[in-house]
This record gives sequence, structure tokens and C-alpha cells, in this order.
Amino acid sequence: MSPQSPLSWIELSQKALRHNVSSLRRLAGDRKLAVSVKANAYGHGLTEIVSDLAEVAEADYVTVHSLEEALACRRHGWSRPVMILGPVASDQLETIIENDFEPVIFDLATLRGLGKAGDRRQTSVKTHVKLETGTHRQGITRDEMEKFAAVYKRYPSLRRPHGAAMHFANIEDTTIHEYADQQLASFNQMVAQLKKLGIPPRIRHTASSAAMILFDKTRFELVRPGLATYGHWPSKETYLSYRLAGGENDLFHPVLTWKTRITQLKKVPADAFIGYGCTYRTTAPARIAVLPVGYSEGYDRALSNRAHVLIRGRRAPVRGRVCMNLTMVDVTDIKGVRLGDEVTLIGRQGGESVSMELLASWAGTINYEIMARLASELPRVLVD
Ligand SMILES: *Cc1c(COP(=O)(O)O)cnc(C)c1O
Repeated sequence: MSPQSPLSWIELSQKALRHNVSSLRRLAGDRKLAVSVKANAYGHGLTEIVSDLAEVAEADYVTVHSLEEALACRRHGWSRPVMILGPVASDQLETIIENDFEPVIFDLATLRGLGKAGDRRQTSVKTHVKLETGTHRQGITRDEMEKFAAVYKRYPSLRRPHGAAMHFANIEDTTIHEYADQQLASFNQMVAQLKKLGIPPRIRHTASSAAMILFDKTRFELVRPGLATYGHWPSKETYLSYRLAGGENDLFHPVLTWKTRITQLKKVPADAFIGYGCTYRTTAPARIAVLPVGYSEGYDRALSNRAHVLIRGRRAPVRGRVCMNLTMVDVTDIKGVRLGDEVTLIGRQGGESVSMELLASWAGTINYEIMARLASELPRVLVD
């Protein structure tokens, strides 16, 4: 059931999305739940995901990377708080204040700019200060805290941070969580320091999906999961740690299925090369199906000669290199294949499945990257 017969399309299970959000809500308890919709809602489609989240009461916040994404959330009907995780430019500060967006702060110039603009408008600005605890990406260090405190106190519109935040470096990469524990200890010390400096944050938040799933002590007053919302585990290590601690197996269901259709079918003789670079050569006569997707749609070139797709409930291996907009697969041994047959690139078909994780392992990357790179031009439809 494709929308106006596009060459390929993404189906989003509304049921799965709501199940996942309910699971996160349950884990979050009475804390605020801030769902990440950056990177086009992890490739799922910002429009569809935010419109659906807006209809249910369970998520309190969305988090985004940029101001543009924050504005898009408003356009799609999200009227609850929006936290901006990434950098903002000096000419965007007025828009942030006008829309009540909550930026995460990691530089003095931005904080000062917000203070000035906020005071001019005689309003209050909710900011979240990012603390450096060992990821060495965005946070402010202990040495910088005094200067930040001075700016907070100087501008009445700022007064103090609404939130204090940190991000774990390796909580999803290992089953040994010593480094995460050290980061958490630093965070707690730094928050105590903020209090001493006269700018106690109202809320604290540290937890991505892996952190919030595994450790209650990371949840504080707000949690910020992304990936789990879409029905995926951050890593095998996270899944293993969770299950070893006795966790149930039904927390998350994958939301996304990516489909296309066979647009060409052909017989190829023995000893024929298939595709660019002549990387695959047949050893016997073969039946090849051409699919209208390639790396420009997000079907990674690293999948060349490695992946399989699903046709009539069976696996059809990719032959030769994935092209910009086309991919060839072998259907020689699949009975009854016809032009126009539906093909599953990611998801289930019959008893078979190609998961985001399987595709990621073939491509030498992580599920996050596979989903984030699905072309935003692909049509998205909500199903069930
Ligand atoms: C993306 C992001 C998250 C969400 O991480 P997941 O692993 O997808 O749950 C949380 N916090 C910050 C700062 C992020 O950038």
C-alpha cells in the first residue's frame, strides 16, 4: 500500500511508536520525558513522528539539534517544550526567545547574547548548562563555571540555569560502566558547585536511551532518550546489560520498514559481470532484479555484494556494487518473482527480516547511522 507509487517509501508503525513511548514513559516514572527528534527524527521523518507525538500526552519535551528543527516541530503541531542540543548562531537568539525554546548552553557568548535579548524583552529565558564530565564535546569545565555564574546573575532574564546536563561517552559501548560512574560522580560534584555559586539548576538531566534503560541513578528529573523511541537498542552491550539484570524483552518494537518495488527483471548469462567495477561475475545463468534505490537514498555503498533484501518472503542477495540510485539483486532461486513485486530493504517480510542492526553490521556501522542517513526525500506513511 504505497503512496502514489513512489519508487521507494518508508512505512512507520504508529502502534510501535506508541508502544515505545509508553515503555519510556514507564521507565521515566514521574520524571519529564524528552524524546529526541534530531536528524529528521532519526531518519524516520520529523513531520510524521512529531505530529504523532503531539497527539499523545506521554512525551513532555522534544529535543532537537538546531533552531530550524525546533521551528519545524512547532509547525508540525508540537506546542510543548523544545530543547535545542546543538549550537545556535547569534542572529538566532531572538527567535529562540520568541518561541520559548530551551537552548543547551556551552559558551559564554551565547549565554550573554540570550541575557541581553531576554532583558530587553523583559522575559525569562530557560537555559540548560552543559557540564564537561569526560566526553569532551560540548560541556563547560569546572574552571569556567564562575564566569558562567557571573553572566547568569548579571541578567535577570537568565537568573540561573533551568537545567544542568551532561552526556555519557561510552555507556552504550560496554558492559563495564566504570567510566560512566566517574562521569556521574563529576556531574554531581559540578552541580553542587553550581549551587555554591548561587545558580542552582532547577532540573538535572544526563540520560540517553542506554543510560535511562540501565541505570535509575542517571534519570534525575528529566530523561533524554532518542533511539529507543524508534524501537531500537543502542547496542548489543546495552541489551545484554539490561537482560542480565533481569529486564523484560518486550520494551521496544521497530517503527520503520523501508520498501521498494522491482522495476526491472532480466536474465543474465553465465560469466557475466554485474554493475560498476565488474566486482561480481555470475557462474551460471541468473535472474537479476533491478531495484530503484541506491546510496543516494541511504542504501549504503558498503552493502555492495554483502546485503540481502526480501522478496516473496525469501532472501535475495545484492550482486555487484550499489549504485547511486539502483541496486541489483539475485532472484534466480526465488519462485514466481514478477515485475512490480514489493521488496523489503529494512523490516520484516513473511518469516524473514532484515533489521537495522543487520544492515549496520554489513555496512560496518551502527544502527544510528543507517537510520539517520535515510534520505529525507523518501515518502513516509504512517500505518496501523
Ligand atoms: C542524541 C542525544 C541523546 C539521545 O541519545 P540516544 O542514544 O539516541 O538515546 C541524548 N542526549 C544528547 C545530548 C544527544 O545528543
